[in-house]
Amino acid sequence: MSDDGQVVGVDGDRLTLVKYPDPRLRSPCRPVGKVDDDIRTLIDRMFELMFAFRGVGLAGPQVGVSLRLFVASPTFHTDDRQVYINPDIVALDGSQDGEEGCLSFPDIACRVRRYQTATLRALDRDGEPFERAADGLLARIIQHETDHLDGRLLVDRMGSLAKLSHRAALKELEAAYETARH
Ligand SMILES: [Zn+2]
Repeated sequence: MSDDGQVVGVDGDRLTLVKYPDPRLRSPCRPVGKVDDDIRTLIDRMFELMFAFRGVGLAGPQVGVSLRLFVASPTFHTDDRQVYINPDIVALDGSQDGEEGCLSFPDIACRVRRYQTATLRALDRDGEPFERAADGLLARIIQHETDHLDGRLLVDRMGSLAKLSHRAALKELEAAYETARH
């Protein structure tokens, strides 16, 4: 990456999933400067990984790229490919309770309270601005993925009871990360 926040020569094939507790998931991301072919290559690879691991959303830091962008497919159809670059949530309303998972926390699902609706502005794959009003699952995905862009994770949204019941799984991920480092 260069200083203006652009990805230089992304080697899409080498991108892999970044899992908890990798510190790259904790850094707030920088805005995308220009939506160019490097960004589109990155986006294509993110969709590949997201569908391969059966996710409905994936954010830049989850592939080790600290840029404000995420991809989503609330219907999990390969032709439903939603791209959100430099997203900005402009309105939130209501509330919903539901199960939430994260590809950076494999095998963990927990109840998380989110807003029922979310309106956001972002750039699409061609760098064109758009605004979308989302409800239900898509609103949940948008809140989960924008959390990622601010370095906020599922574990931060867990209540103390959920944290306790997932303690073994979290410890396992921490141990796996330590083993991979050494
Ligand atoms: Zn996630």
